[in-house]
Amino acid sequence: PFDVLVIGGGPAGATAAIYAARKGIRTGLVAERFGGQVNDTMEIANYPGVPETNGPAWAAQLEQHVRNYEVDLISAQRVAEVIPAAQPGGLITVRLENGGTLQSRTLIVATGARWRNVNVPGEQEYKTKGVAYCPHCDGPLFKGKDVAVIGGGNSGVEAAIDLAGVVRHVTVLEYNPDLKADAVLVSKLESLPNVTIRTHAQTTEITGSQGKVSGLSFKNRDSGASEHVALQGVFVQIGLVPNTEWLGSVVQRNPMGEIVIDAKGATSAPGIFAAGDCTTVPYKQIVVSAGEGAKAALGAFDYLIRTPAA
Ligand code: FAD
Repeated sequence: PFDVLVIGGGPAGATAAIYAARKGIRTGLVAERFGGQVNDTMEIANYPGVPETNGPAWAAQLEQHVRNYEVDLISAQRVAEVIPAAQPGGLITVRLENGGTLQSRTLIVATGARWRNVNVPGEQEYKTKGVAYCPHCDGPLFKGKDVAVIGGGNSGVEAAIDLAGVVRHVTVLEYNPDLKADAVLVSKLESLPNVTIRTHAQTTEITGSQGKVSGLSFKNRDSGASEHVALQGVFVQIGLVPNTEWLGSVVQRNPMGEIVIDAKGATSAPGIFAAGDCTTVPYKQIVVSAGEGAKAALGAFDYLIRTPAA
Protein backbone atom coordinates (compact mmCIF):
# COMPACT_ATOMS: atom_id res chain seq x y z
CA PRO A 1 0.00 0.00 0.00
CA PHE A 2 0.96 3.65 -0.43
CA ASP A 3 1.42 6.20 2.34
CA VAL A 4 0.07 8.90 0.02
CA LEU A 5 -1.94 8.26 -3.12
CA VAL A 6 -2.67 11.32 -5.26
CA ILE A 7 -5.61 11.27 -7.66
CA GLY A 8 -5.07 13.77 -10.47
CA GLY A 9 -2.01 14.90 -12.42
CA GLY A 10 -2.66 18.62 -12.88
CA PRO A 11 -0.68 21.35 -11.06
CA ALA A 12 -2.29 20.44 -7.70
CA GLY A 13 -1.74 16.66 -7.94
CA ALA A 14 1.77 16.90 -9.41
CA THR A 15 2.89 19.34 -6.71
CA ALA A 16 1.37 17.15 -3.99
CA ALA A 17 3.27 14.11 -5.34
CA ILE A 18 6.59 16.02 -5.41
CA TYR A 19 6.12 17.23 -1.83
CA ALA A 20 5.08 13.78 -0.56
CA ALA A 21 7.92 11.94 -2.33
CA ARG A 22 10.47 14.38 -0.90
CA LYS A 23 9.41 13.19 2.57
CA GLY A 24 10.64 9.72 1.63
CA ILE A 25 7.21 8.11 1.96
CA ARG A 26 5.60 5.67 -0.50
CA THR A 27 3.84 7.91 -3.02
CA GLY A 28 1.58 7.05 -5.93
CA LEU A 29 -0.20 9.23 -8.48
CA VAL A 30 -3.06 8.08 -10.65
CA ALA A 31 -4.34 10.39 -13.39
CA GLU A 32 -6.51 10.13 -16.43
CA ARG A 33 -4.53 12.79 -18.29
CA PHE A 34 -1.27 14.06 -16.82
CA GLY A 35 -1.09 17.87 -16.91
CA GLY A 36 -4.85 18.35 -16.55
CA GLN A 37 -6.37 21.56 -17.88
CA VAL A 38 -2.90 22.95 -18.50
CA ASN A 39 -2.78 20.81 -21.65
CA ASP A 40 -5.57 22.93 -23.12
CA THR A 41 -3.83 26.22 -22.46
CA MET A 42 -2.05 28.02 -25.26
CA GLU A 43 -0.03 30.62 -23.45
CA ILE A 44 0.83 30.68 -19.74
CA ALA A 45 2.23 34.04 -18.67
CA ASN A 46 1.19 34.29 -15.02
CA TYR A 47 3.26 31.60 -13.32
CA PRO A 48 5.95 33.44 -11.31
CA GLY A 49 9.47 32.73 -12.47
CA VAL A 50 8.28 31.45 -15.86
CA PRO A 51 7.61 34.64 -17.85
CA GLU A 52 6.16 32.74 -20.78
CA THR A 53 5.44 29.15 -21.74
CA ASN A 54 2.64 27.13 -23.30
CA GLY A 55 0.44 24.45 -21.77
CA PRO A 56 1.87 21.27 -23.34
CA ALA A 57 5.47 22.39 -22.67
CA TRP A 58 4.70 23.22 -19.04
CA ALA A 59 2.81 19.92 -18.55
CA ALA A 60 5.79 17.97 -19.94
CA GLN A 61 8.15 19.71 -17.50
CA LEU A 62 5.73 19.02 -14.67
CA GLU A 63 5.74 15.32 -15.52
CA GLN A 64 9.55 15.27 -15.72
CA HIS A 65 9.74 16.94 -12.31
CA VAL A 66 7.49 14.26 -10.79
CA ARG A 67 9.51 11.50 -12.49
CA ASN A 68 12.69 12.82 -10.84
CA TYR A 69 11.31 11.35 -7.61
CA GLU A 70 10.18 7.90 -6.58
CA VAL A 71 6.56 8.33 -7.49
CA ASP A 72 4.59 5.38 -8.79
CA LEU A 73 2.93 7.08 -11.77
CA ILE A 74 -0.25 5.41 -13.01
CA SER A 75 -1.36 7.31 -16.13
CA ALA A 76 -4.39 7.01 -18.38
CA GLN A 77 -6.51 5.52 -15.61
CA ARG A 78 -9.72 6.90 -14.17
CA VAL A 79 -10.71 6.43 -10.54
CA ALA A 80 -14.30 5.25 -10.16
CA GLU A 81 -14.77 4.96 -6.41
CA VAL A 82 -13.19 5.53 -3.00
CA ILE A 83 -13.89 3.23 -0.07
CA PRO A 84 -12.88 5.04 3.14
CA ALA A 85 -10.89 3.36 5.90
CA ALA A 86 -12.90 1.42 8.46
CA GLN A 87 -11.19 3.47 11.21
CA PRO A 88 -8.72 6.39 11.32
CA GLY A 89 -5.24 5.12 10.41
CA GLY A 90 -6.71 2.27 8.36
CA LEU A 91 -6.29 1.69 4.64
CA ILE A 92 -8.35 3.60 2.09
CA THR A 93 -9.23 1.67 -1.07
CA VAL A 94 -9.45 3.25 -4.51
CA ARG A 95 -11.19 1.38 -7.29
CA LEU A 96 -10.19 2.17 -10.88
CA GLU A 97 -12.59 2.12 -13.83
CA ASN A 98 -10.61 -0.80 -15.28
CA GLY A 99 -11.49 -2.86 -12.21
CA GLY A 100 -8.08 -2.62 -10.47
CA THR A 101 -7.75 -1.45 -6.87
CA LEU A 102 -5.10 0.56 -5.00
CA GLN A 103 -4.70 1.05 -1.25
CA SER A 104 -3.21 3.89 0.72
CA ARG A 105 -3.10 5.32 4.23
CA THR A 106 -3.90 8.80 2.91
CA LEU A 107 -5.44 10.14 -0.26
CA ILE A 108 -5.08 13.51 -1.94
CA VAL A 109 -7.93 14.21 -4.34
CA ALA A 110 -6.84 16.71 -7.03
CA THR A 111 -9.19 15.91 -9.90
CA GLY A 112 -9.69 19.52 -11.01
CA ALA A 113 -12.65 20.96 -12.82
CA ARG A 114 -14.02 21.53 -16.29
CA TRP A 115 -15.63 24.62 -17.81
CA ARG A 116 -19.22 24.09 -18.86
CA ASN A 117 -19.46 24.38 -22.66
CA VAL A 118 -22.22 26.27 -24.49
CA ASN A 119 -22.33 23.48 -27.07
CA VAL A 120 -22.92 25.61 -30.15
CA PRO A 121 -21.25 25.22 -33.55
CA GLY A 122 -17.79 26.83 -33.55
CA GLU A 123 -17.06 26.42 -29.85
CA GLN A 124 -14.84 23.34 -30.16
CA GLU A 125 -13.42 24.41 -33.51
CA TYR A 126 -12.19 27.79 -32.24
CA LYS A 127 -11.13 26.80 -28.71
CA THR A 128 -7.85 28.65 -28.01
CA LYS A 129 -8.38 30.44 -31.37
CA GLY A 130 -10.63 33.10 -29.89
CA VAL A 131 -12.90 30.97 -27.70
CA ALA A 132 -11.64 31.30 -24.11
CA TYR A 133 -12.78 30.40 -20.62
CA CYS A 134 -10.43 32.18 -18.20
CA PRO A 135 -10.41 36.01 -18.22
CA HIS A 136 -7.43 36.22 -15.81
CA CYS A 137 -5.45 34.01 -18.16
CA ASP A 138 -6.48 35.06 -21.64
CA GLY A 139 -7.89 38.57 -21.19
CA PRO A 140 -4.60 40.32 -22.07
CA LEU A 141 -4.49 38.45 -25.42
CA PHE A 142 -7.52 40.50 -26.52
CA LYS A 143 -6.12 43.93 -25.71
CA GLY A 144 -7.72 46.53 -27.99
CA LYS A 145 -10.14 43.98 -29.50
CA ASP A 146 -13.89 43.34 -29.27
CA VAL A 147 -15.10 40.37 -27.24
CA ALA A 148 -18.29 38.78 -25.93
CA VAL A 149 -18.95 37.17 -22.58
CA ILE A 150 -21.56 34.43 -22.62
CA GLY A 151 -23.29 34.25 -19.22
CA GLY A 152 -24.67 36.97 -16.96
CA GLY A 153 -24.16 35.30 -13.58
CA ASN A 154 -21.50 36.40 -11.10
CA SER A 155 -18.61 34.85 -13.03
CA GLY A 156 -19.79 36.29 -16.37
CA VAL A 157 -20.32 39.79 -14.99
CA GLU A 158 -17.00 39.73 -13.07
CA ALA A 159 -15.29 38.60 -16.27
CA ALA A 160 -16.94 41.40 -18.27
CA ILE A 161 -15.88 44.07 -15.72
CA ASP A 162 -12.34 42.67 -15.75
CA LEU A 163 -12.19 42.49 -19.56
CA ALA A 164 -13.66 45.98 -20.05
CA GLY A 165 -10.46 47.38 -18.54
CA VAL A 166 -8.32 45.54 -21.09
CA VAL A 167 -10.22 45.10 -24.35
CA ARG A 168 -11.94 47.68 -26.60
CA HIS A 169 -15.54 46.55 -26.18
CA VAL A 170 -17.43 43.80 -24.34
CA THR A 171 -20.87 42.44 -25.24
CA VAL A 172 -22.47 40.45 -22.41
CA LEU A 173 -25.05 37.86 -23.51
CA GLU A 174 -27.54 36.54 -20.98
CA TYR A 175 -30.11 33.88 -21.91
CA ASN A 176 -32.64 34.98 -19.28
CA PRO A 177 -34.56 38.30 -19.13
CA ASP A 178 -32.20 39.60 -16.37
CA LEU A 179 -28.58 39.32 -15.35
CA LYS A 180 -28.29 36.89 -12.45
CA ALA A 181 -25.21 38.47 -10.84
CA ASP A 182 -25.21 40.37 -7.52
CA ALA A 183 -26.76 43.85 -7.78
CA VAL A 184 -23.49 45.62 -6.91
CA LEU A 185 -21.71 43.88 -9.82
CA VAL A 186 -24.57 44.60 -12.22
CA SER A 187 -24.53 48.33 -11.42
CA LYS A 188 -20.76 48.42 -11.80
CA LEU A 189 -21.11 46.72 -15.20
CA GLU A 190 -23.87 49.11 -16.29
CA SER A 191 -21.64 52.09 -15.44
CA LEU A 192 -18.93 51.05 -17.89
CA PRO A 193 -18.87 52.94 -21.21
CA ASN A 194 -17.52 50.10 -23.37
CA VAL A 195 -19.99 47.37 -22.38
CA THR A 196 -23.24 46.39 -24.09
CA ILE A 197 -25.64 44.06 -22.24
CA ARG A 198 -27.96 41.84 -24.27
CA THR A 199 -30.57 39.87 -22.35
CA HIS A 200 -32.96 37.24 -23.80
CA ALA A 201 -29.94 36.31 -25.90
CA GLN A 202 -29.46 32.69 -26.90
CA THR A 203 -26.07 32.12 -28.50
CA THR A 204 -26.54 29.99 -31.61
CA GLU A 205 -23.10 29.95 -33.25
CA ILE A 206 -19.54 31.18 -32.90
CA THR A 207 -18.41 32.12 -36.37
CA GLY A 208 -14.88 32.19 -37.68
CA SER A 209 -12.75 32.97 -40.65
CA GLN A 210 -9.17 31.98 -41.47
CA GLY A 211 -9.03 29.72 -38.41
CA LYS A 212 -9.98 32.43 -35.90
CA VAL A 213 -13.15 33.70 -34.25
CA SER A 214 -14.85 36.42 -36.32
CA GLY A 215 -18.15 36.83 -34.52
CA LEU A 216 -21.10 35.43 -32.65
CA SER A 217 -24.69 34.80 -33.70
CA PHE A 218 -27.57 34.84 -31.25
CA LYS A 219 -31.32 34.68 -31.24
CA ASN A 220 -33.29 37.32 -29.37
CA ARG A 221 -35.70 35.09 -27.43
CA ASP A 222 -38.08 38.02 -26.94
CA SER A 223 -38.46 39.17 -30.54
CA GLY A 224 -37.36 35.93 -32.22
CA ALA A 225 -34.93 37.90 -34.39
CA SER A 226 -31.44 36.58 -35.17
CA GLU A 227 -28.46 38.87 -34.83
CA HIS A 228 -24.73 38.69 -35.49
CA VAL A 229 -21.95 40.66 -33.72
CA ALA A 230 -18.49 40.91 -35.27
CA LEU A 231 -15.75 40.33 -32.66
CA GLN A 232 -12.45 38.55 -32.07
CA GLY A 233 -13.00 36.76 -28.77
CA VAL A 234 -15.70 34.88 -26.88
CA PHE A 235 -15.41 34.12 -23.16
CA VAL A 236 -17.71 31.31 -22.06
CA GLN A 237 -18.73 31.91 -18.42
CA ILE A 238 -21.58 29.56 -17.68
CA GLY A 239 -20.00 27.61 -14.86
CA LEU A 240 -17.00 25.62 -13.71
CA VAL A 241 -17.90 22.08 -12.73
CA PRO A 242 -15.63 20.22 -10.28
CA ASN A 243 -14.71 16.64 -11.24
CA THR A 244 -16.05 15.17 -8.00
CA GLU A 245 -19.25 13.33 -8.94
CA TRP A 246 -17.52 9.95 -8.50
CA LEU A 247 -16.87 10.69 -4.79
CA GLY A 248 -20.54 10.44 -3.81
CA SER A 249 -20.93 11.15 -0.11
CA VAL A 250 -17.45 9.94 0.94
CA VAL A 251 -16.41 13.53 1.70
CA GLN A 252 -18.45 16.66 2.31
CA ARG A 253 -19.05 18.74 -0.83
CA ASN A 254 -20.77 22.14 -1.16
CA PRO A 255 -23.91 22.63 -3.33
CA MET A 256 -21.66 23.31 -6.34
CA GLY A 257 -19.95 19.95 -5.85
CA GLU A 258 -16.66 21.43 -4.58
CA ILE A 259 -14.90 19.42 -1.85
CA VAL A 260 -14.94 21.28 1.47
CA ILE A 261 -11.40 21.52 2.91
CA ASP A 262 -9.78 23.13 5.93
CA ALA A 263 -6.60 25.23 6.03
CA LYS A 264 -4.41 22.10 5.73
CA GLY A 265 -6.37 20.58 2.86
CA ALA A 266 -8.17 18.02 5.06
CA THR A 267 -11.68 16.91 4.03
CA SER A 268 -14.44 15.62 6.31
CA ALA A 269 -13.08 12.02 6.01
CA PRO A 270 -10.01 11.06 8.10
CA GLY A 271 -6.91 10.63 5.91
CA ILE A 272 -8.54 12.07 2.79
CA PHE A 273 -7.16 15.44 1.65
CA ALA A 274 -8.01 17.51 -1.41
CA ALA A 275 -6.41 20.34 -3.39
CA GLY A 276 -6.92 22.64 -6.35
CA ASP A 277 -9.87 23.33 -8.64
CA CYS A 278 -11.94 20.43 -7.25
CA THR A 279 -12.15 22.13 -3.84
CA THR A 280 -13.81 25.19 -2.31
CA VAL A 281 -10.58 27.21 -2.65
CA PRO A 282 -11.38 30.46 -4.50
CA TYR A 283 -9.60 31.71 -7.66
CA LYS A 284 -8.95 28.68 -9.83
CA GLN A 285 -5.41 29.23 -11.17
CA ILE A 286 -2.26 27.18 -11.78
CA VAL A 287 -0.24 28.93 -9.08
CA VAL A 288 -3.11 28.60 -6.60
CA SER A 289 -3.58 24.89 -7.36
CA ALA A 290 0.15 24.20 -7.06
CA GLY A 291 0.24 25.90 -3.65
CA GLU A 292 -2.82 23.99 -2.51
CA GLY A 293 -1.20 20.70 -3.62
CA ALA A 294 1.86 21.47 -1.47
CA LYS A 295 -0.38 22.23 1.51
CA ALA A 296 -2.39 19.03 1.13
CA ALA A 297 0.78 16.90 0.91
CA LEU A 298 2.21 18.48 4.05
CA GLY A 299 -1.19 18.03 5.71
CA ALA A 300 -1.20 14.35 4.77
CA PHE A 301 2.36 13.92 6.09
CA ASP A 302 1.34 15.58 9.36
CA TYR A 303 -1.61 13.16 9.59
CA LEU A 304 0.65 10.15 8.94
CA ILE A 305 3.13 11.00 11.69
CA ARG A 306 0.35 11.64 14.21
CA THR A 307 -2.02 8.77 13.42
CA PRO A 308 -0.98 5.23 14.38
CA ALA A 309 -1.59 2.68 11.61
CA ALA A 310 -4.77 0.72 12.31
P1 FAD B 1 -6.67 20.05 -13.34
O1 FAD B 1 -5.65 20.81 -14.09
O2 FAD B 1 -8.08 20.11 -13.82
O3 FAD B 1 -6.18 18.54 -13.27
C1 FAD B 1 -7.04 17.51 -12.85
C2 FAD B 1 -6.35 16.16 -13.00
O4 FAD B 1 -7.21 15.14 -12.47
C3 FAD B 1 -6.06 15.73 -14.42
O5 FAD B 1 -4.86 15.01 -14.45
C4 FAD B 1 -7.25 14.82 -14.76
O6 FAD B 1 -6.97 13.91 -15.80
C5 FAD B 1 -7.40 14.11 -13.43
N1 FAD B 1 -8.70 13.47 -13.17
C6 FAD B 1 -9.94 14.03 -13.15
N2 FAD B 1 -10.86 13.11 -12.80
C7 FAD B 1 -10.20 11.95 -12.59
C8 FAD B 1 -10.57 10.62 -12.20
N3 FAD B 1 -11.85 10.29 -11.92
N4 FAD B 1 -9.61 9.67 -12.08
C9 FAD B 1 -8.30 9.97 -12.33
N5 FAD B 1 -7.89 11.20 -12.69
C10 FAD B 1 -8.82 12.17 -12.82
N6 FAD B 1 -4.53 29.11 -15.02
C11 FAD B 1 -3.48 29.95 -14.91
O7 FAD B 1 -2.98 30.15 -13.82
N7 FAD B 1 -2.95 30.54 -16.02
C12 FAD B 1 -3.43 30.34 -17.28
O8 FAD B 1 -2.95 30.92 -18.26
C13 FAD B 1 -4.55 29.47 -17.42
N8 FAD B 1 -5.13 29.27 -18.63
C14 FAD B 1 -6.14 28.38 -18.73
C15 FAD B 1 -6.68 28.13 -20.01
C16 FAD B 1 -7.69 27.19 -20.18
C17 FAD B 1 -8.22 26.91 -21.57
C18 FAD B 1 -8.20 26.50 -19.04
C19 FAD B 1 -9.28 25.45 -19.21
C20 FAD B 1 -7.71 26.77 -17.78
C21 FAD B 1 -6.68 27.71 -17.60
N9 FAD B 1 -6.15 28.02 -16.34
C22 FAD B 1 -5.07 28.85 -16.24
C23 FAD B 1 -6.68 27.38 -15.12
C24 FAD B 1 -5.76 26.24 -14.69
O9 FAD B 1 -5.50 25.40 -15.80
C25 FAD B 1 -6.39 25.44 -13.55
O10 FAD B 1 -6.69 26.29 -12.46
C26 FAD B 1 -5.45 24.33 -13.05
O11 FAD B 1 -5.06 23.47 -14.10
C27 FAD B 1 -6.12 23.51 -11.96
O12 FAD B 1 -5.24 22.53 -11.54
P2 FAD B 1 -5.74 21.21 -10.80
O13 FAD B 1 -4.52 20.38 -10.61
O14 FAD B 1 -6.54 21.59 -9.62
O15 FAD B 1 -6.76 20.50 -11.80
